[in-house]
Amino acid sequence: MADCIFCKIASGEIPNVKIVYEDEATMAFLDLNPQAPVHALVIPRRHIDRLTAAEDGDTELLGKLQLTAAKTAKLLKVEGAFRLVTNNGKGAGQSVDHLHYHLLGGRKMLWPPG
Ligand code: AMP
Repeated sequence: MADCIFCKIASGEIPNVKIVYEDEATMAFLDLNPQAPVHALVIPRRHIDRLTAAEDGDTELLGKLQLTAAKTAKLLKVEGAFRLVTNNGKGAGQSVDHLHYHLLGGRKMLWPPG
């Protein structure tokens, strides 16, 4: 999508993005405004607004995103303890309308998250 910042990151248009992992369908990069010592974003390259916009045809892609998150956790050495979360909709805190999972680690996580 033309105005989507994460689409631009996926197509390499944005400089200085710290990419941790990428393959043909997904990628993971460090969050610009980290909320934990380790904070990466895991996205599909193809634009999907949010998790509830995904369709049956996206099943394989959604599975790949989970595996990309696990690979990213290993690359960032937090595979023993991390949180994976998506904000679905403005009310849940979504500010970028391109499906993404926050991978947070490197500190104690609180529950409930607030
Ligand atoms: P959310 O609020 O759940 O939609 O998360 C969007 C996240 O994207 C926030 O944590 C932002 O800090 C992050 N973000 C926005 N623009 C960029 C960017 N250019 N590079 C890296 N992270 C970004």
